Amino acid sequence: MRNFAWQHPRDQIVETMARIYAHDMTTTSGGNLSIRDEKEGVWISPARVDKGRLRAEDVVRVSSGGEAEGLHPPSSEFPFHRAIYEARPDVGAIIHAHPGALVSFSMCGQVPDTRVFPETYALCGKPLLAPYALPGSQALGAKIASAFSDKTRPKCVVLENHGVVVAGKDMAEAFTAFEALEFAAATLLHAKKLGEPKVLESKEKPKGGGASVFRVLPEAEWDGRKVSNLERERRKEVCEFVRRAYDHRLVTSGWGSFSARVGEEAFVITPRHLDRANLWAEDLVYVEGGCFEKGRQPSRAVSLHEAVYRAHPEIGAIVNALPLHASAFSLSDERLDTKTIPESYVFLKEVNWFSFKEQGEKGEVAARKLSVSQPAAVLEHNGVLVAGRSVLDAFDRLEILESTAMAILRCQTLGPVSKMTEDMTRELEEAFGIV
Ligand SMILES: [Zn+2]
Repeated sequence: MRNFAWQHPRDQIVETMARIYAHDMTTTSGGNLSIRDEKEGVWISPARVDKGRLRAEDVVRVSSGGEAEGLHPPSSEFPFHRAIYEARPDVGAIIHAHPGALVSFSMCGQVPDTRVFPETYALCGKPLLAPYALPGSQALGAKIASAFSDKTRPKCVVLENHGVVVAGKDMAEAFTAFEALEFAAATLLHAKKLGEPKVLESKEKPKGGGASVFRVLPEAEWDGRKVSNLERERRKEVCEFVRRAYDHRLVTSGWGSFSARVGEEAFVITPRHLDRANLWAEDLVYVEGGCFEKGRQPSRAVSLHEAVYRAHPEIGAIVNALPLHASAFSLSDERLDTKTIPESYVFLKEVNWFSFKEQGEKGEVAARKLSVSQPAAVLEHNGVLVAGRSVLDAFDRLEILESTAMAILRCQTLGPVSKMTEDMTRELEEAFGIV
């Protein structure tokens, strides 16, 4: 999510609400956002206004004395926003919404286990559950504030039979955690169809709040480096496909990496944490000969991409993504079977599986197992990895991987999948020259 430091709270609320609504993470009537200002006033979305058409002037300010200023009354859930701010001086912004997957958890009185992905654990911590109370009531405010006052200082609280509340030091932090929590919840719902999802044990969790399992590359400075037109073209292409991936929920706003080769030993890669919905050509980080541009922050998966490019000159692009259905397989011992439709087998052959341990360090396992003819892998507790000859090629294979996973999971309600036979796959191999 973009750094909002220079935007007025009204504009931050409008932009964040638009994004939540566009991604189907709220209904027009459900959900409200607020930001605390330096005078202890609270800027909050208004009551009874279409969330799909919220304008800056619709946002209301409630002073520390409780007086509302604006065109509309404040959200009916203002009491719980105020109660959280009073209980937690470290909180500067709050998101409340009814996103589909988290609402399912709330209806069952459960919270998603964020230990399924290192990133969700780092961003969301351990969510708590607040017991049901009447919406808009002081009682609901007291129950939510009590959950937020827990000694674990939670960021995320699921409201029983209602929705979720996510708090952050600012709106960018709250939105990133909100999006990651809904992603974990949605992935878990799919993964549970494959059996009890696996979670990371405490010894495997990253130390110091980081979420990396990857090696860090060294920095380097290149005096007077000339940027080629090929590099300019690749930068533009990567940005376009990252935005497309974000719109299709294949990556989240700050999580997921895309890179493209621009030379024998050089490639450009997405930066760490920068908003995937607003990425520009100049934001990508240049990497050459195992070093990245001084002063920049490449995606954490940079060492993995570097190892794959070094081992496979024919690979031109690599993507780490978090498609909801394919990522469910990263929490299961079930393997994603491509011998289900010709499209999957022809473009992906068999899907690789890299254990959590195999993804770390030098990326040597990825370099050994990935190839243009077998370009996809499910990464245990880390989504998926897909390579291709070009950016379009990698993106296309990512979509095929996700649509195959979605179809397999949907078959759970239809009956057993009838798999393609050995003869059928051999026939495909011969017809399409698959090696
Ligand atoms: Zn609500």
